[in-house]
Amino acid sequence: MTNYRPPIYKKSPYLPFGDQRNAPFYGKDILSVKQFSRSDLDYIFAVAHEMREMVERVGTFDLLKGKILANLFYEPSTRTSSSFTSAMERLGGSVIPINEVRYSSVSKGESLPDTVRTLECYTDVIVLRHPDVGASAQAAKYARKPIINAGDGVGEHPTQALLDLFTIVEELGQVDGLTVTMLGDLKFGRTVHSLARLLSLYDIRLNYVSPEILRMPEEIIRELNDQSISQNEYDHLDRALPETDVLYVTRVQKERFENLADYEAVKGAYVISLQTLEAAKNRMIVMHPLPRVGEISMDVDDDPRAAYFRQMEYGLYVRMALLAMVLGKS
Ligand code: ASP
Repeated sequence: MTNYRPPIYKKSPYLPFGDQRNAPFYGKDILSVKQFSRSDLDYIFAVAHEMREMVERVGTFDLLKGKILANLFYEPSTRTSSSFTSAMERLGGSVIPINEVRYSSVSKGESLPDTVRTLECYTDVIVLRHPDVGASAQAAKYARKPIINAGDGVGEHPTQALLDLFTIVEELGQVDGLTVTMLGDLKFGRTVHSLARLLSLYDIRLNYVSPEILRMPEEIIRELNDQSISQNEYDHLDRALPETDVLYVTRVQKERFENLADYEAVKGAYVISLQTLEAAKNRMIVMHPLPRVGEISMDVDDDPRAAYFRQMEYGLYVRMALLAMVLGKS
C-alpha cells in the first residue's frame, strides 16, 4: 500500500438532504453487488460518510419519517437485522421485525411470494435474509416495493460487501493498489463472494487462503480472471500475510455442511493471534464480518489493526445511506 490518505468523497448532487426521487437507487432493489459501478460506490460512500457525521452530530433525524421497513429474516442475524433497525429508526422511520419466521404464517406453509406480497401492503421496503440462493431475486419479482438482499444462502450479501468496502475506504483511505487476503471458508461464506466481486472494480490483488475443501468457487475466480484481477490461492497464511493490507477473516460456516465430520476437520484450520500479526505490516487492517467462533483470538482485539468492531459501526452508516437512497425523501 502507498502512504495513507484520508478518503476524499466526490460531492454528489444527490446527497441525502434533498429530494431523492431522481437519484440512481430510488425505488430500486438491492440484490447483488453486480449491479454497482464504481461511480455508484463513490455515491453510496459519500452518503454513508454524511450519515456518519449526522449521527455523530445529532444522533437521530427525520429524513425517513413516516416510512416503514419490514425486516424479514429466515436465518439468524444479530448485526444485519439490528443495524437495519437502528438505521431506519435513526432516520425517523419505523420497523416491523419478523426475525422469527416460525411465529409468522411461514410456519403454516406460506410461500415467500405471498409473504412478501403481504408485507409490502404495510411497509415501504423489505429487507430479506433467506437460506436459498436467489431468494431475494425471486421476492423482487413479486414485490412492488424495493427488496434489499440481507444474505441469500451461500449466494451473496451485498450490503455487507458495501460496508466492508466502506470500512477499507474509511480506514485506509483508498482501495486501488491494495492487497486483500481472504481467509477461511471461501466456499460457503457469502460475504467473501460479494466482496471479491465488488473489489474487482478496483486495481487490487486478491489472495485466497483456505483448506482445500473450502476454496473460493470456480465461478467467481473465472469472473475475476475475465476482469484481469490478480488472484492467488494458498493453503497457509505465511506467504500471503507480509504483503497484505487487508486481512479478511471468515468463520467456517457450520450450518452449510452436510457432514459434521467434514466441519470438525476444518473448523480450527486458522487462528489469528497477536503472534500471527508479528509478520504483518504495521499499517494494515484485520476485518471479519462476525460472528467469530475462534478464528481471531481475543488478544488481537486491542491491536489498532483490529478493525472488525469498527466495521460493524460502519455498517450502520452504509445501511442508513442505502435506505435513504432507496426510499428517497418524501
Ligand atoms: N454474518 C455474516 C453472514 O450472515 C457472516 C457469518 O455468518 O459468518 O453471512
